[in-house]
Amino acid sequence: VAKERIFNFAAGPATLPESVLLKAQTELYNYHGSGMSIMEMSHRGKEFDGVIKKAESDLRRLLNISDDYAVLFLQGGATTQFAAIPLNLCAPEDVTDYIVTGSWGDKAFKEAKKYSKANLLWSGKSDKYTTIPSFDGLQQSPNAKYLHICANETIHGVEFKSYPTPSNADAVLVADMSSNFCSKPVDVSKFGLIYAGAQKNVGPSGVTIVIVRKDLLGNAQPTTPVMLDLKIHADNASLYNTPPCFTIYICGLVFADLLEQGGLAEVEKKNMKKAGLLYDAIDESNGFYVCPVEKSVRSLMNVPFTLQKSDLEKKFIEEASKEGMVQLKGHRSVGGVRASIYNAMPLAGVEKLVAFMKDFQARHP
Ligand code: PLP
Repeated sequence: VAKERIFNFAAGPATLPESVLLKAQTELYNYHGSGMSIMEMSHRGKEFDGVIKKAESDLRRLLNISDDYAVLFLQGGATTQFAAIPLNLCAPEDVTDYIVTGSWGDKAFKEAKKYSKANLLWSGKSDKYTTIPSFDGLQQSPNAKYLHICANETIHGVEFKSYPTPSNADAVLVADMSSNFCSKPVDVSKFGLIYAGAQKNVGPSGVTIVIVRKDLLGNAQPTTPVMLDLKIHADNASLYNTPPCFTIYICGLVFADLLEQGGLAEVEKKNMKKAGLLYDAIDESNGFYVCPVEKSVRSLMNVPFTLQKSDLEKKFIEEASKEGMVQLKGHRSVGGVRASIYNAMPLAGVEKLVAFMKDFQARHP
């Protein structure tokens, strides 16, 4: 049994801030003197009401979300939103545009084809998802209801650094921000809908956060299941049915922690420093380590790389694990190595990984 915490580079569920885990531990048994754990309480009681309201207001402060937007805490993962988005934002005969920069965007696109006339505006598949297109050259559908992007592709490590604007004035931009949510400031007003599974940057798995412009709600397709109707959740302040109470509670602790750190501009600075260290180590390795992603769109959160001597990858991952750096294996669909360095990964974890990479290279000339 590990006595100390180790450095966990998992893509999600992922490492959480130690201060949050310790606070949750002290409150777990007896929440604020109630004699109960938060996970044993009614979701309609005053304690949980306080928890969800504070989580929402702290998230609103972090991302500067105006009252024009509803903030929802839902279940079913980001994958459920792949269907819920077309079901809520368009009719089956409406056109929707998808820019696909990785596997998650591709999954969203395929699901949307069932509930709209989804158009594949651009796909990076032939380049193995290593880049993002220039927005000028994209011929968006003139009548599209929305333009969908995946802001950060968790498997391929490709991240939008700026966002396209829908060319149709009535269309809105929709983004899956699951793996870079709350990692940097975002101008929410540029989006019609943002969604994110919690289990990378802001909590355990079990809750998906949806930030949606209120005027877009109320037009769900008639066959939309009640649990996928965003207006129902908005009208019921995410309490239409029993929400994932414990997960929301932990997300609330993470939001408070991010505010304490000085907000998302400060968080972004730390993330840039960590990612910079790691990408520099890769780029300065004389080709021993290779990151296939185009430099200008490399993710601050998920850093995929391969070893030029690919037969050494297994050894690299095993030795790193023995030194207390775990979950470095690339996604099963792409192989190689992937270091996920979300908000809660300390700088010390990245420094240790970089030192290990240099040492490993020196031992394998
Ligand atoms: N979108 C992105 C960018 C992801 O990284 C993931 C999961 O890793 C998903 C969607 C799917 O999320 P969930 O497993 O919560 O449905």
